[in-house]
Amino acid sequence: MLNLVLFGPPGAGKGTQSEKIIASYGLTHLSTGDLFRKHLGEGTALGALAKGFMDQGRLVPDEVVIQMVEDKIATTKDSKGFIFDGFPRTTAQAEALDAMLSKNGMKISGMIALEVPQAILKERILERGKTSGRVDDQEEAKINTRIQVYLDETLPVAAYYERQGKFHQIVGVGKIEEIFDQIAAVIDGY
Ligand code: AMP
Repeated sequence: MLNLVLFGPPGAGKGTQSEKIIASYGLTHLSTGDLFRKHLGEGTALGALAKGFMDQGRLVPDEVVIQMVEDKIATTKDSKGFIFDGFPRTTAQAEALDAMLSKNGMKISGMIALEVPQAILKERILERGKTSGRVDDQEEAKINTRIQVYLDETLPVAAYYERQGKFHQIVGVGKIEEIFDQIAAVIDGY
């Protein structure tokens, strides 16, 4: 089983590369941002809870995110493995993920981090905001908050996997296909 964490700041291209990884390796996509947006669209209590945090570009509390991921893993049968996109975003989430996977006889194979300069991230997010309909993609102040939250709360997650010898970094600027080829080379080495 192949379980990957696709890591990087907002706008790094995690969603785009996830689609390509899924197409080639048949993994189950687990994007916590997508799951929250689904709850929002369906008007669930979880969606209502998450909305305030998401609209501000803040993180939804760990216990809420962890429970949602645990439910998704428990209800996904016969998976060849997961690609975790936008999760874990805190060290507490990374520890919880390790614990829930090991309970199910699974583990993280590796983390692939996409590195993109901040100026390019902002351009990409604002461009996506023209069509994504996402409130958090449309205002520079919110985008700045999301990048700052990434630097303060999420970046330590990279060190967490580095300590486990599972960290791989790739430059996330250039042609989508070429970035994917580098990701595939890492995956093929697992
Ligand atoms: P994303 O689509 O990954 O950029 O996530 C959009 C928003 O959903 C984030 O800005 C957070 O408010 C929330 N979110 C998604 N994943 C997480 C997570 N792992 N932990 C906390 N909040 C999250």
